[in-house]
Amino acid sequence: MNIVILNAGSSSIKFQLIRMPTEEVICSGLVERIGSDSSVFKYTSEGVEIEDTEKITTHYAGLQKIAAYLLDPKIGAVKSVDDIDAIGHRVVHGGDSFAETTPVTEAVKAEIKEYASLAPLHNPHNLEGIRVAEQLFPKARQVAVFDTAFHQTMPDKARRYALPDTFFSEHKIKVYGFHGTSHKYVSEKAIAYLGKKSSKIISIHLGNGCSMTAIVDGKSVDHSMGFTPSNGLIMGTRCGDIDHSVIFHLMDTLGYTAEQVNTLLNKKSGMLGLTGFNDLRDIQAGAEKGNVACQLAMDMNAYRIKKYIGAYAAAMNGLDAVIFTAGIGENSAILRKMVCSNMDVFGIVLDDTKNGVQSDTLREINADTSKVKLMVIPTNEELEIAKQVYTLARR
Ligand code: ADP
Repeated sequence: MNIVILNAGSSSIKFQLIRMPTEEVICSGLVERIGSDSSVFKYTSEGVEIEDTEKITTHYAGLQKIAAYLLDPKIGAVKSVDDIDAIGHRVVHGGDSFAETTPVTEAVKAEIKEYASLAPLHNPHNLEGIRVAEQLFPKARQVAVFDTAFHQTMPDKARRYALPDTFFSEHKIKVYGFHGTSHKYVSEKAIAYLGKKSSKIISIHLGNGCSMTAIVDGKSVDHSMGFTPSNGLIMGTRCGDIDHSVIFHLMDTLGYTAEQVNTLLNKKSGMLGLTGFNDLRDIQAGAEKGNVACQLAMDMNAYRIKKYIGAYAAAMNGLDAVIFTAGIGENSAILRKMVCSNMDVFGIVLDDTKNGVQSDTLREINADTSKVKLMVIPTNEELEIAKQVYTLARR
């Protein structure tokens, strides 16, 4: 079965063609900076890498470009659009409606649209990706895979905010949780690795967006992001946890508009706001050279993660494993070390040598004396989506 995975963002579309059940990645690529003069299309298939800089003005044009390359007689992967059996769409916000991967129908599209107000940076583009894919691949099964789905198992005590009931029941203001596809994928790998019947795991996804999930027996029981993906950890450009009164102060005393506050907290804060850089590699290099702001940002970032580890160990009354994943989690030995140092109260002891090894496979980085397994597990959201689409198609 040929499954195209589409991840349509505000100005980019990432894609992969995965053949199931062999899990073979036939080709992959992305369209970046849609609508700008520097838009670019990148395509990789069987070792061939192509960069195409013809201007791409819309998501529709971007998907047309992807389809044209997939069908190219020389470097393409299929002969006809009908050879694509299914398209798995990453959809960020599924609200309350979707606890599982779902075939796209008119009603499903209407709900994705409804939840756009909760994820304005993501859902409208995800929906656009679905609409265009329906036109370009009319025979393919269109399937939606929601970032929020994995967290539907969270109990109300973790899911609710301490607001009057109507805000929960009527206005649906609650913790939805995000990065679910990634947390599910890596925690399933960890559970298989641990080989235990019952398990208490903390999954730490550190990419451009960062989040943590407490997982008991494979089920999400608490999560650091909230109503939107802005709560919790310090991220590339998002501040994470903040006293909400800061927002009133910004507006009432400093004269910010709601939109300016939103831009400040989501796009200009976090590691970028603290240091001027949002890529952790630049911040690590700055800290090594003695840049005080970079060092402080690293300290704050690690400290926030430590606090969530403590909270989740308490919430689960135990801890078997901590997983580090995504761009930073998989690659930053320094941040992992900062997070895991002075955590022996939880039975967490890192092995520095193992932590320093670079590898793109699942690995343990804890000392033999550590009660808690510390693991680096590369995430693969595309493969997880392909698996879910494949399972759904075979039902
Ligand atoms: P996304 O959330 O966009 O999927 P990724 O999971 O790819 O993001 O993570 C991207 C981030 O990972 C980059 O912004 C960078 O900060 C970080 N990163 C990537 N490689 C390294 C590395 N070798 N060392 C430290 N950080 C890295």
